[in-house]
Formats: sequence, structure tokens, C-alpha cells
Amino acid sequence: MAFWTGAGLLVDRSAHAGQVSFEAPPARYRADTSVKVLTKSPDAISAYCHAWGVQRPDAAGCYIPALNAIAVINPCDVPDAGFIGRLLCHETGHQLGWTADHPN
Ligand SMILES: [Zn+2]
Repeated sequence: MAFWTGAGLLVDRSAHAGQVSFEAPPARYRADTSVKVLTKSPDAISAYCHAWGVQRPDAAGCYIPALNAIAVINPCDVPDAGFIGRLLCHETGHQLGWTADHPN
């Protein structure tokens, strides 16, 4: 199984493993927005993005104009995803039925 670290490192035995750049866009493209977020397992994200036309074999995420959605590797599968990754993992847990009192 492959997994991504918060630093963008694909840990895998595949030929595509390696460092990936997650370059921040110029400031004019950083406004608040509304977009659907799709999460995919580390083993599925690249093929999913490829199916939508992203040609990078090591894609960890992509924007899909036809869905106005971004597909990203599931942050719950990234051990050092950082604050935003932990936050997204937490909130997707609620979306999947985890109640607000946070039962185990
Ligand atoms: Zn909560």
C-alpha cells in the first residue's frame, strides 16, 4: 500500500514513488471559495484523477471542473498531515456519522 506524508512524499515500492511538489498558487488564486471535496485512498487517488484527465501518474490530488470538486488523498491516511489534514479527517468523520460527542 502506498501512503503520502504531509510533505508530499509517496511512500511506496512503485516506480512512481518520490517527492511531489504542492506549490501554492499566486495570491490572486487563494480567495475563499466553495468546492466539493472528494477523498480517495492513497492507492486510488492517482487512478481517479487520471480518469478525469490528469496525466500525472503520481497525482495526490486534482481539480475536476465538471464536478466543481477537488479530489485529494484521504487526509486520514496521511500520518503527518498537519493541522489542516487532521481537521479534514476529523470533519469527514462527522460526515460519515461520527456524532458530535466524539464516541470511540
Ligand atoms: Zn468533532
